[in-house]
Amino acid sequence: MSDSAASVLQVALPVPLPRLFDYRAPDGVAAPDDVGRRVRVPFGPRELVGVVAAVGPPAPDAPDLRPVVERLDASPLLHGELLESLRWLARYTHAPLGEVLATALPAALRRGEPLPDTHAWAWRLTADGRAALPGLRAGSRPRRLAGLLETAPRDEHALDALLDGWRAAARSLQQRGLAERFAVPASAISPAPRPGPTPEPEQQAAIDAVRAADGFAPMLLDGVTGSGKTEVYLHAIADCLARGRQALVLVPEIGLTPQLLGRFRARLGVPVHATHSGLGDAERARVWAAAWRGEARVVVGTRSAVFTPLPDAGLIVVDEEHDASYKQQDGIRYHARDFALVRGRALGIPVLLGSATPSLETLQNATAGRYGYLRMSRRAGAARPPEVRVTDVRKRPLEAGLSQPMLDAIRTELDAGGQVLVFRNRRGYAPVLLCHDCGWSAQCPRCGGAGQGRPMTVHAQGRRLQCHHCGHRRPAPPACPDCASLALQPQGVGTERIEEVLAARFPDVPVLRIDRGSTRRRDAMETLLGDLGERPGILVGTQMLAKGHDLAQLGLVCVVGIDEGLYSADFRSHEKLAQLLVQVAGRAGRAQRPGRVLLQTHHPDHPLLATLIEGGYHAFAAEALALREAAGFPPFAHLALLRAESKHAGPPLAFLQAARQALEAGAQAARAPDLEISGPMPAPMARRAGMHRAQLLLSSPARRELHATLHATLPRVYALPEARRVRWSLDVDPVDLY
Ligand code: ADP
Ligand code: ZN
Ligand code: ZN
Repeated sequence: MSDSAASVLQVALPVPLPRLFDYRAPDGVAAPDDVGRRVRVPFGPRELVGVVAAVGPPAPDAPDLRPVVERLDASPLLHGELLESLRWLARYTHAPLGEVLATALPAALRRGEPLPDTHAWAWRLTADGRAALPGLRAGSRPRRLAGLLETAPRDEHALDALLDGWRAAARSLQQRGLAERFAVPASAISPAPRPGPTPEPEQQAAIDAVRAADGFAPMLLDGVTGSGKTEVYLHAIADCLARGRQALVLVPEIGLTPQLLGRFRARLGVPVHATHSGLGDAERARVWAAAWRGEARVVVGTRSAVFTPLPDAGLIVVDEEHDASYKQQDGIRYHARDFALVRGRALGIPVLLGSATPSLETLQNATAGRYGYLRMSRRAGAARPPEVRVTDVRKRPLEAGLSQPMLDAIRTELDAGGQVLVFRNRRGYAPVLLCHDCGWSAQCPRCGGAGQGRPMTVHAQGRRLQCHHCGHRRPAPPACPDCASLALQPQGVGTERIEEVLAARFPDVPVLRIDRGSTRRRDAMETLLGDLGERPGILVGTQMLAKGHDLAQLGLVCVVGIDEGLYSADFRSHEKLAQLLVQVAGRAGRAQRPGRVLLQTHHPDHPLLATLIEGGYHAFAAEALALREAAGFPPFAHLALLRAESKHAGPPLAFLQAARQALEAGAQAARAPDLEISGPMPAPMARRAGMHRAQLLLSSPARRELHATLHATLPRVYALPEARRVRWSLDVDPVDLY
């Protein structure tokens, strides 16, 4: 036996090659429980951190292997369900396992740092402190802190909520030997749960359905805005906790607000761990480690939180499951909702997908009976559905894009003490800078497509130009570069310009702009909204305002200029627009205040608007699904997009042409007669940030055909000589086709 004993570690490394790499185990013995441990290995002139994917004996004719530098984990970091699900993901995305594992691990662990400590810190009084307490100056911070600690030790999160400035007081007590700091496991902290409202009958039915689920159960919670989906999640999570299980909650990029976390923390009676891209590497690794140890019982996070280890998994919730931020757009292009379902199946637990505007994919799965289908058609509590009116603005005078009826409605709402949201999905001052004399317009020198440049957006009241595709910036020219005319005019309106006009028109109320330009810092939006409070005022913003913060005083939503979206070429553009309109409209009238929505358009008869307003989102979705079926688009076909880019126009097309030949042969070998390959063709945006971009689209009504073909072909695509001259990527189930 000893000759064939395992001594080789097969390591998944974060390099773009679809294979594992063999190394000699440090002590010459590779054990099965090496699988899932991180190791540091030599790789060319460098060292890399990888994960052991398999162990085995050396191949009979094997060359001398280099040894692993060191094992980094005392026990497997990745194991069980998570490791198996990640192997599945590597197969599904046809990506190297090493790159998938590197994507799944928090950055600090990817770099090889040890799994961090996860205990929390708490404070207690010493015996001296108890004795000294009555002598501390009444009303002073140290006295108030000592008073809090007298009843029970308190963890630092709790103290944050209880006493401003407690840290200085704690240090002062500590220096005098009156209080001490000690470590506690994170799971020991339990704030007292606060009860919520009594569930409405529709909510109760949904809660009961999740409770009755046994094993893997995908469920769509399809509830109108304000129907109380979050309440259903909270009940389902509480049930899961009561069974001693962990819950994972995914929220969209801009849905993870302090308001939401506060609501979870107040209600659940356990610490709620949050994880998102705004946290430092150390903090993200700590949350991951706390979940890995089973200490974190509830984890709420954005897209990459779907990789959280769940040793005691009981439930996964995906809030706003239709949201585009769940799809990773570079590197490993996974979809967090879809991967959540894969994990739910492997874990044998319910996966609750919530939305007022479900994606057509999910809706199709629910109506076909593959998912449980829970519907809530009424708003919770006293809130009523908003009333929606379309204003035809053809031939009407507009002031910064706003019609007179809209301005009048804003005045009326403000006078009644309400708040107004003005929605315009264009950042900046104006979308275009145009020469009135010769027709020149400012275009990005680095972006373009279909024979046209891409206009640069005007910012800073017309002083600056910026490309929203590549970030390129420059000062606005003082005169037209073509004809030297001074008649350069910003055309159209963005949020900055609307803000300017409204601030001049309504000087008596605050006008707040909320978009990516005004809220770079993560909590900036909360601070702005917190300052506004319940006062009358106007919010101007992009889709950032479509979800997240709940504004009780919001009575009027004005939708300005959605016409661009009505005529976009992308097959998903109508779905996205319908979702956005319904979500934005749904911000109005969420509490006692009745809500109204004004939608102004130059295309009042557009079928999308007509269907949406008369029949609501579901009428729209039924029509859109019928169109997709007729056209052979998802969810009735399965797509993969092979993209390539380079500084020159030729190499991407040459690579894709060679890939196409390989794929055609692969399709034959994989018996995939219905697989269609379109291209190579220039991407709809054929140039971005100076790179030439082209693509090849694969489509099949059968998922098996697509994957069997890719499986048979991808190793050859990696090896193509043309591949070395481009940057290429494969996107399975692409959301954007450009
Ligand atoms: P959704 O996520 O479906 O848009 P939320 O869960 O945020 O809705 O609830 C909308 C509002 O209704 C919140 O202010 C919430 O506190 C309130 N609410 C939810 N359920 C109830 C209920 N059963 N009774 C009274 N108010 C409720
Ligand atoms: Zn000119
Ligand atoms: Zn650009």
